[in-house]
Amino acid sequence: MTTIVVIEDEAPIADAVAARLRSEGFVVEIAGDGPSGVELVERTQPDLVVLDLMLPGFDGLEVCRRIQRERPVPVLMLTARDSETDVLVGLAVGADDYLAKPFSPRELVARIRTILRRVERAQAGAAGTAVLRIGDVEADPATRRVLRAGEAVHLTPIEFDLLAVLGAKPGVVLTREQLLHEVWGYRDANGARTVDSHIRSLRQKLGADLIRTVHGVGYAVEG
Ligand code: CA
Repeated sequence: MTTIVVIEDEAPIADAVAARLRSEGFVVEIAGDGPSGVELVERTQPDLVVLDLMLPGFDGLEVCRRIQRERPVPVLMLTARDSETDVLVGLAVGADDYLAKPFSPRELVARIRTILRRVERAQAGAAGTAVLRIGDVEADPATRRVLRAGEAVHLTPIEFDLLAVLGAKPGVVLTREQLLHEVWGYRDANGARTVDSHIRSLRQKLGADLIRTVHGVGYAVEG
């Protein structure tokens, strides 16, 4: 059974989302504010969290930071405003994807299935994969632990997958479209800024020189 926690303070939206997800076969738990959402995630250890950005208590960004601290969990963020800043900050604190309100239930389910497929693929691919070494960075796909010069660094699930995809082909330039397809499972190219935002946060965590920008083409790690 796949469990999804929905953290949303507008009860009609939370109930509609939960009903749709239950009809798709998911087990769904609901929380209506930041603190109880964090508590619910810790207690139920869900496979995915649907997280509203504007919440009482503390907001979705803080919820995202807190739930990612213990264990990487995929997050689909809901934003009321289609504000670029909110989206970029959300992605930087570890959300996998976002959906601006109002959204269609069908779109929500499609996004959730895409994220779950990506996580499943990443887990399957990790079995028996060697530790990646890129400069002073070591990433172990089996445990998803990352060390930089021997010091542990926390990466969000999507940051780890992005690093693993680039690190598997040192010296090869991957386009944003290829990265969207391989890391996020998207078939279209409407997510270039999502890729850029995650590359930026990988550089912040692991060093500016780790990933090379090839202007007009894409990204590569040094071979
Ligand atoms: Ca709200």
